Amino acid sequence: MRPTTDPDPDESWLTETLYDDFRTSIKVDRVLFDSQTEHQHLVVAESARFGRMFTLDGVTQLTMADEFVYHEMLAHVPILAHGRARDIGIIGGGDGGLVEEVLKHASVERVTIAELDAGVIEFARTYLPDLVRGAFDDPRVEIVLGDGADFVATTERRFDVIVVDSTDPIGPGAALFTPEFYTDCRRVLKPGGVLVTQNGVPFFQPDELESSMRSFTGLFADATCYLGVVPTYVGGFMAFGWGTDDVALRGVPLATLQERFAAAGLETRYYTPELHLASFALPRFIADIAERGRAGAPGG
Ligand code: SAM
Repeated sequence: MRPTTDPDPDESWLTETLYDDFRTSIKVDRVLFDSQTEHQHLVVAESARFGRMFTLDGVTQLTMADEFVYHEMLAHVPILAHGRARDIGIIGGGDGGLVEEVLKHASVERVTIAELDAGVIEFARTYLPDLVRGAFDDPRVEIVLGDGADFVATTERRFDVIVVDSTDPIGPGAALFTPEFYTDCRRVLKPGGVLVTQNGVPFFQPDELESSMRSFTGLFADATCYLGVVPTYVGGFMAFGWGTDDVALRGVPLATLQERFAAAGLETRYYTPELHLASFALPRFIADIAERGRAGAPGG
């Protein structure tokens, strides 16, 4: 990612370089930070349309305009489906948006964040106060700096819900999309626990979803994905991987979800109990990708 100057020298555009044959550019009014952290190249900018936004290694991670979609769906779907989640593990999530949503559940007692890059957490504290809202300093939160793959391979902790809020499977994020990593996530889930993952945009990244479904199918009784639409992540639906041995979690009745949602006292801008259930209804092309993954699993 490099701030590019378009013919009008007064304008600045950020151009995402995630795909070789497809580029998106966002006009920005200010670049607030543009530097290398210990692990990644971090750019923070301000756009009139998307608000404050940041990129890592040329890929847009978040904009304040639509982060609520992503963070609400990653937090509330597994926690409200589970119904008794106390211990939450977050792999990645250095921008603080996910932990902030998770902490809205008073029933959550402990959140462990396994984040690779201290630079991302520091920048989020400084440049994204409206997102973080002091969540990193909540007494229920513990931050473990280091590779998330090493964390799940070695930790003694056990979790009701693990959420993988990672970058894409390139660079340091690649370690969070491997069969070994998913196997270790399974190891540290409590019985009846659920794993959810950032799993890309199926229209542009079908292989990412297919390979995760192949791994999940070999590990969990219920392996699928649910969907949300995050305008910043161009390409239509974003997929969230879902893996659990408690096959009843996906069948929690609407009335029960509505009760839990009301009891949690959540104010949301995207998530609703109705949408929760609907988000597991997959369009044919995405269902086919997931099915290809399952079919490719050992014994699939
Ligand atoms: N919403 C974004 C997306 O969908 O692409 C993800 C945002 S979140 C900031 C991604 C986080 O994953 C970053 O803070 C990054 O440092 C972290 N990360 C990348 N590779 C990691 C690894 N191997 N272990 C732990 N965290 C990692």
